Amino acid sequence: MERTWRLDDGERVRTITGVRRPDWQGMTDPCPDCGARAFRHVATSGGRYECVDGVVTRRTDYWDAGADLLTQCLDCDAVLYKHPAFELCVAILDGAVKW
Ligand SMILES: [Zn+2]
Repeated sequence: MERTWRLDDGERVRTITGVRRPDWQGMTDPCPDCGARAFRHVATSGGRYECVDGVVTRRTDYWDAGADLLTQCLDCDAVLYKHPAFELCVAILDGAVKW
């Protein structure tokens, strides 16, 4: 399933897409298009951070904010999962979108 969203920041209208393949459940499954088992994967990580005695500590036991952003087959480049925020993150990092 692919779904698109229109974003209007007042200067430009941009379309972002999200992909969720119903024939692929996760990285224990082979690529449904070519059968490969190697993937390009991008994810976020985060959580609660505290500074104690000058040392920054991440407490994943308290709150973990990880999320998958993209999974793509390394052999055939099929996009198996793409969070809609992935395109926006890349556009911001590339400077195509200012914020
Ligand atoms: Zn593949």
